[in-house]
Amino acid sequence: MKPLYRQVQPSVTMSLDQRARELAAAGRDVINLTAGQVDLPMPEAGKAAVREALQADRTGYVPATGSSKVKAAVRARMGWKEGEVLISAGAKPLLNAAVACICGPGDEVILPAPCYTSYPEMVRLADGKPVVVLGDPVRDFIVSGAALERCVTGRTKAVLLNNPVNPTGAVYGPGALREIADVCKEHDLYLIADEVYSAFMYEGKFVSLYDLPDLRERLVLVNSASKTFAMAGLRLGYCVAPQPVAKTMGAYLSHALGCPCSLSEQAALAVLTMDGNYENDLKAVFRERRDRLFDALSAIDGWEIKKNAGAFYLWLDVSGLDDDVAFCEKLLSREGVALTPGSAFSCPGYVRLAYTKDSSILLDAVSRIKRFVKMYYSSSSGVSS
Ligand code: PMP
Repeated sequence: MKPLYRQVQPSVTMSLDQRARELAAAGRDVINLTAGQVDLPMPEAGKAAVREALQADRTGYVPATGSSKVKAAVRARMGWKEGEVLISAGAKPLLNAAVACICGPGDEVILPAPCYTSYPEMVRLADGKPVVVLGDPVRDFIVSGAALERCVTGRTKAVLLNNPVNPTGAVYGPGALREIADVCKEHDLYLIADEVYSAFMYEGKFVSLYDLPDLRERLVLVNSASKTFAMAGLRLGYCVAPQPVAKTMGAYLSHALGCPCSLSEQAALAVLTMDGNYENDLKAVFRERRDRLFDALSAIDGWEIKKNAGAFYLWLDVSGLDDDVAFCEKLLSREGVALTPGSAFSCPGYVRLAYTKDSSILLDAVSRIKRFVKMYYSSSSGVSS
């Protein structure tokens, strides 16, 4: 096997999710808060569109980078006027395609961190070198332009930025985005932006990198229906990129994936063009969960909890308690609550809680976490497995 591929690790978040599922299947009462997917149903309009498409035998191939009607719907919904739109099977293949097309062997891609678990592996899969730059905890881990610039070398080709951020739930505001954009312009880098949580913004309006017109010639912007419309399993993502990059990415996707799923395209067309308050309703549910969780967890004496401004994750500092992986393992085996260690996101010392379950389940999880954390405060020798 290619030595490079032996280094590529399976997704830690997916394997933890799998472990929690196995325990549950074996009869344990497990609350699994590892998976980053919306637990509410997708819009009815999307479901009806899939049924209709199936009934009409729309089961053939579609164009490699998506049907023109779906592209037009994406363009209108996202306000993407300039650049080429591409459709594929979720955000992941689009991110992989962008990295593979921009980054050659030995080239560097800077990853502001904590970062999504797949990013370093995506860069390695492209034979490139991931350069992780950890933000300052005091600034919610938001990476400054100056910190980013210190990582730039003659081999740097791109910055890969997720906003709102998985796993911290922090949000890069207009000032922080401007700083990053300026570094990319100054050093002639591409900015690959992953905005899959753009609909989950609890304070104020989300500012997209697309809103910086002077960046567009170097911006590959990815989003998807997975979170916004609770359609993660249907695998439908979209992206806008400058024409030359889009052309190469399109060729890559045509060989690597073939084309998007014809039924998912129809679902996307329906949800992207529907009226109503689906997105706001979804956000309201998640905001309420966040607030209840935050209040309940803040009641643990001595443990400082920060409220996230976006996405659907709480990012908990366990550095004063235990190693993050050990914390998650002990919590799962003692209390049946599955969280994800920060190490999976290039940031040990923290754990991620995905509030992708009903409030009553979340409050049950908090009672268990409270019981568990109190053990650390009451025992000077830590908590055994
Ligand atoms: N980017 C980030 C930051 C994510 O958290 C996820 C999924 N958890 C993805 C991309 C993948 O999205 P998709 O399902 O659209 O491939």
